[in-house]
Amino acid sequence: MAGCISSTLHAQVDSVALRFASTITKDALMDHLRVIASDAFLGRDTGKQGQKMAAAYLKDQFSEAGIPPVQAPDPSSVVEGYFQPFDVIERRSGTIYLVHGPDTLRYGKELFYFQEQLQEGGSVEELAFLPVSAPVDPAVLKGRTVLLDAGQFGEGMAAMRALRTRVEQLQGAGVRTVLVAVDGLPQMIGLMHLSGSHMRLADQEPRAKADQGVQMIMIDRAVMDGMLGRNTIARLRRKKKVRFLPVRFELTVQLSEQRLTAENVLAFIEGTDKKDEIVVLTAHYDHIGVKDGVVYNGADDDGTGTVAMIGIAKAFAQAKAAGKGPRRSVLVMPVSGEEKGLLGSRYYSDHPVFPLANTVADINIDMIGRRDSAHASSPPYIYVIGSDRLSSALHDANERANRTYTDLELDYTYNAESDPNRFYYRSDHYNFARKGVPSVFFFSGVHEDYHQPGDDVEKIDPDLLHQRTLLAFHLAWILANQEERIQVDKPLKP
Ligand SMILES: [Zn+2]
Repeated sequence: MAGCISSTLHAQVDSVALRFASTITKDALMDHLRVIASDAFLGRDTGKQGQKMAAAYLKDQFSEAGIPPVQAPDPSSVVEGYFQPFDVIERRSGTIYLVHGPDTLRYGKELFYFQEQLQEGGSVEELAFLPVSAPVDPAVLKGRTVLLDAGQFGEGMAAMRALRTRVEQLQGAGVRTVLVAVDGLPQMIGLMHLSGSHMRLADQEPRAKADQGVQMIMIDRAVMDGMLGRNTIARLRRKKKVRFLPVRFELTVQLSEQRLTAENVLAFIEGTDKKDEIVVLTAHYDHIGVKDGVVYNGADDDGTGTVAMIGIAKAFAQAKAAGKGPRRSVLVMPVSGEEKGLLGSRYYSDHPVFPLANTVADINIDMIGRRDSAHASSPPYIYVIGSDRLSSALHDANERANRTYTDLELDYTYNAESDPNRFYYRSDHYNFARKGVPSVFFFSGVHEDYHQPGDDVEKIDPDLLHQRTLLAFHLAWILANQEERIQVDKPLKP
């Protein structure tokens, strides 16, 4: 019986697929990773030198593999050789200062703000302290600069929500600037990942003015106390009504925006009898750059996905050169702008080089080189996210690829629609999924080096990186070669 069961469970092995899978080696993946995750690549920040270097490296790899530059079927789509360029607008952080007497308070040190809200500076002569128990009265507060004490709003996420509601009420009352005194702000900032800049696609509207109606600036409570003199926050906390406090300071705003160009890199392996249908593979090759002189190498995030793209593109190119190329076309596309809000994949999905209606699936890889704490000593595993959201055939194909070739433990924890991490919405596949293209996201989980300078090559597990890359390759091979195109059989949810 056992033999009988296993013969039905194990799908037919495709020896041709195996032959070209064997061209993807652990050593080659790691060699590429040591290059792109080296300090020389400056953390691959979107629109900057490091990202350009990575783009050039990818282009060279694809070109060496004999993959020709892309000929877009639609002449209106802008493709330059291997690149799809897109413009972004970067707004730099740290351009708002609060000057009080001889002291200058700076972003990321004594103060913090969500910069897209900030637009105007000016002198302030007086603060209106609003206790949590006092009502928001427009007659009293309109046009004032209001001071809130974060400590009065409780702790954790509930406090953040209550604070946010309060700030919205103040916006409704015509308040333009709200200062929030926060205990231990520098420590809190230390735990946050400050992105250094805010970026949007150039053809994307900036946030509506209505959203920008109030600017909220958080100031360390000890620093605020220094500005308040004898009216410390601890003393103000006991008040029940609005207190006006003479505090003189200058808010200096120097918003600076610059236009940059970033690239998606395209390796297009044209198919044979079904070449108009496209199987896409994506992984972001950008990371978060250099901060305070430290390079964030992003070996796992997403150096691993990037080198998987190289290995997979070369394997398909070799198959094609040997007369065993895929029936459908395969587009291997390392994208950039991911860390700034999935910008590269968003741009592609809004300006597709190949029609989305002909796009069969997107297989996305973002971080596949490590273990998370939930799998510290588990068998080799991978998180699979999204495979069944639009197409049960995609899900089945992936299970089949894994069962037949890689035998990883497929962990669907993060695929739950109720997953609080919302990973389904947080990497590049989502830009395909939102357009109705069945998408699957491979991921090995977060770890203590996520978005930290310690995300280095030495911590990558070469065997896991290799096995997970092979799963993506075999799935792509199946989707590109099987007779039936996988169908969408689930509704697209907003
Ligand atoms: Zn990532």
